Parts: sequence; C-alpha cells; structure tokens
Amino acid sequence: GKVLVTGSNGYISVWIVKLLLEAGFSVRGTIRSSDKAAYLKTLFASYGDKLELVVVKDITLPGAFDEAVKGVDAIEHLASPFHMKSTHPDDMIIPAVQGTRTLLQSALQHGTNVKRIVITSSTASIGEFLDTAKVFTEDDWNNQSEREAKEKGKDCSPTHSYRASKTLAEKEAWRFVEEHQGKIDWDLVTICPPYVYGPVLQDVKSPDALNTSMASWYDYIVEGTGDDKTLANVGGGWVDVRDTAAAHVKSLMVEAAGNKRFLNSAGEYMWQDWILAARKTDSKLTPGNTAYDPEKAVHLIRFGSTRVQDILGLTYHTKEETARDCLANFREHGWY
Ligand code: NDP
Repeated sequence: GKVLVTGSNGYISVWIVKLLLEAGFSVRGTIRSSDKAAYLKTLFASYGDKLELVVVKDITLPGAFDEAVKGVDAIEHLASPFHMKSTHPDDMIIPAVQGTRTLLQSALQHGTNVKRIVITSSTASIGEFLDTAKVFTEDDWNNQSEREAKEKGKDCSPTHSYRASKTLAEKEAWRFVEEHQGKIDWDLVTICPPYVYGPVLQDVKSPDALNTSMASWYDYIVEGTGDDKTLANVGGGWVDVRDTAAAHVKSLMVEAAGNKRFLNSAGEYMWQDWILAARKTDSKLTPGNTAYDPEKAVHLIRFGSTRVQDILGLTYHTKEETARDCLANFREHGWY
C-alpha cells in the first residue's frame, strides 16, 4: 500500500518514513518547499520511486491536500508547529487545527482509497498541570491550555499555546469523524507521545538547528546547561523516536487500533535522570546535580496506559539505550 506522510522532513516523520519503507510500503511525503526533497531522496535513495515527495505550501488553505490524498491507502499526519517561540496562541492553533481540518476534508472528498488516518497528537492534549499528582490515561483531556489561550490571548505562555494547538487539533479530528459518520470509509487513530528523544535522521546542519525536543536534550546533556534545581525538578514524560515511529506504523497494520487514542509514553524523567543514563555511555559528560535522588523526585504528571503494548504489541527503549544512541548519533555529526 501507499501511505501519505505530512511534514515528512520533520524529526519524527523521517523515522516513520524509514520504518514504512522498510515494512514494504510506498510513501508520499509532503514538504513545504521543493528544496527539502533532495535530502530525503538521497537518504532513502535505495528505495527509488517508492518514496515520492510533493509540495504542500500552506496546509491551512482549503483543498491543500486534495491532490496529495489521491491514491493513498492511509495517512500519517504530523505537519504542525512545535516550538516555544509563539507570540500569540493563534500562531500555533491556526496551522494545527486548520491543517487537520483541511487534511480530513481532502480525505473525505478525494481519498477514495484511504482506510485509516493516524494523527500525531501529544500528551499535551491529555495532561494538565495540577497541584497534586495525577496518573493520566487516554480518557483524560487537557482543557487547561485551551482555557489559558482563550483567557490570556497574546499573554498566553508559548507552552500553553502549543499545548492548546495540540488539544484543539485532536478534538477537531474526533469531531470531524463524528460529524461525518456514515460518509467516510476510513477510521481515525491518534498517537499521543510525550517528549520524543533519540537519534536524528532529518536534515540538521548544526545543533542549534535541532528540532525542539532534541534541542533540549542536547543542551542539558551535551552542553550541560541545567542548574542543580532544574536538573532535579524539571522533566516530563518521554518516548524514544523509534518507538513512537513504530507505534505510527504498527497502528496502520493492526485492525483493532481503529478509532482509538494511544498514550505513547515510556515513562517519566527529570533531566538529571538523563545525565545519569548518558554518563553510563560517557562518564566525561557533565555530572550535573550529584545530590539528586531519583527515589525522591516528584512527578506530578504521570502517564498510566499499556494500550500501545497491549494492542500494538510494542516495547520501549530504556533511557540508557536512547541516551547511548543519541550520543553516537551526535558523534557521527561531529557535535560532541
Ligand atoms: P519537527 O519540527 O521536526 O517537524 C515538524 C514538521 O511539521 C516539519 O515538517 C515542519 O515543516 C512541519 N510544520 C511545522 N509548522 C508547520 C506549518 N505551520 N505548516 C505546515 N507544516 C508545518 O517536529 P517533530 O517531528 O518533533 O513533530 C512532529 C509532530 O509530532 C508535530 O505534530 C508535533 O506536535 C508532534 N509531537 C512532537 C513531540 C516531540 O517531542 N518531538 C512530542 C509530541 C508530539 P518545515 O520543516 O517546513 O518547518
């Protein structure tokens, strides 16, 4: 079969494209400009015409994906802004929500072969910052960021702006399916990863051009920028990029994945945990906060779901494995 991957030059997407090609699928990837094609064509040269790249310049325009969806059997939708530089929630919400809507509308009207659409959401659409600890599952929705975006407008934090964009985009997708029940021949899957770490395959010229999640990893582990307080108290959930890519591909192959939301988390971390994991590969890296006790770390947001393991049959890399492979990857690039 043939799979459309939107935003195919991004960090997670390139891994998905790789796994799809390895699994025997043909891939049509969207990029925003034609200059992004050459790198991918070279990276996957051995697959020849099985990888096709098409330009979709502005995903917010109605009909943007009309041509791209023709003849594909499934879609993986990743194109969406992920950065912490927004000055207004709309910077994030408009491309996230309208991009999702135009894609689904194009699939409805022109995607006659489409059987399944997988949308990359995020734990940002699940977890809320609360004063007390909570274990979140696929049944939970983050309504806090949407509220923040609405109430604060341009004074909304970039974090909540991003989180609101992911929540609203995922809600839009489920709403679209509900509204078009009986008129669509495909079903929806959403994958909700927390912070994604692991080797980079995409075109990156220097560490300061890394995608948002890997830029943080590089800063804390290789540059050693965290202070003691941050290293012991700041963190989140995480998953290896190869494991989230595998979840995206597996969810196309497992019938029972249809109409489900997947929390895709390998566990929680504080930055010092990553330092400890990385130092098992390279003891010359910053020791960070040597007083840190992982047993005493308080993770207010925790993720509790085994749906990825149970339905998709996947297992997760450990922090030590991911850290080792990130460092090897950075070394190949000459970045450390
Ligand atoms: P990248 O920044 O590496 O890739 C983002 C992709 O989306 C690129 O292809 C980019 O195109 C495209 N894109 C960004 N903004 C727009 C826009 N306004 N219009 C059209 N295309 C756009 O990020 P990731 O690979 O990390 O993220 C991919 C997806 O995964 C996103 O939906 C993100 O929200 C989600 N996600 C990521 C996590 C992470 O930790 N990395 C965690 C959870 C979810 P271009 O290169 O042209 O800018």
